[in-house]
Amino acid sequence: MAKHLFITGANRGLGLTMVKQYLQAGWNVTACCREPEQAGELILLLEEHESLSVFQLDVTDYPALQQLGDNLQGEPIDLLINNAGYYGPKGSTLGDIDVEEWRRVFEINSIAPLKVLEAFRENLKLASSSIFAILSSKMGSMGDNTSGGTYIYRSSKAAINSVVRSLSVDLRDDNIAVVALHPGWVKTEMGGPNALIDAQESVTGLKRVLDGLDMSQTGEFLDFRGQKIPW
Ligand code: NDP
Repeated sequence: MAKHLFITGANRGLGLTMVKQYLQAGWNVTACCREPEQAGELILLLEEHESLSVFQLDVTDYPALQQLGDNLQGEPIDLLINNAGYYGPKGSTLGDIDVEEWRRVFEINSIAPLKVLEAFRENLKLASSSIFAILSSKMGSMGDNTSGGTYIYRSSKAAINSVVRSLSVDLRDDNIAVVALHPGWVKTEMGGPNALIDAQESVTGLKRVLDGLDMSQTGEFLDFRGQKIPW
């Protein structure tokens, strides 16, 4: 039976590229985005792929998240990717912190991924072995932070890294592997045009890492080449 990917933030960037690569690999894909009516490329894929379903979802709308979880009750999910993320204001330097934006970035990057897991934990348990992967960032690494600044985005990804570690312990008995992933610096709307790699290269690497992942690696922080990143 074909495997099942569930992914958030699937209308553009890394999320859309993941949808394409997993469809190509023969997976069933459930792709969520905030505004399907604006997601031209994703919606076009529906015409070519019966194995694709698209749902409207803002990951910070927790009642809607639970409702979608209820609607998909009984369907195994082999791979749940929390890809949706938000960088927030570009500056975010000392003395120039927008507190409201910090709260918003935290809501999307640090709190919502845990609520996504809660909504679909039972689906992950139904697969024989499953993975919850979170798109984190090397920017959230304490060990790698030698350049300072970027308080908002860095702290939100550091927080989700901590969530990943706790989940990896709490979900061990459910046989769900949990990992934080760094996709590289990627040319997307978030990464910008000066980034080092394109989405195709990043996702090819991330997919290879996920294809080879097992429970022995739960709780790890890995980049798109499979290298461990310091916490
Ligand atoms: P983009 O900015 O291109 O895409 C972000 C995606 O997240 C969009 O689909 C966006 O939807 C979605 N999103 C944002 N807020 C919400 C929300 N509340 N609910 C649902 N979806 C939401 O970013 P990338 O594709 O580059 O990034 C994907 C992930 O990878 C992010 O988590 C990011 O932090 C991480 N990452 C990216 C790096 C890079 O260099 N690009 C480096 C390190 C990590 P919408 O179009 O509706 O806004």
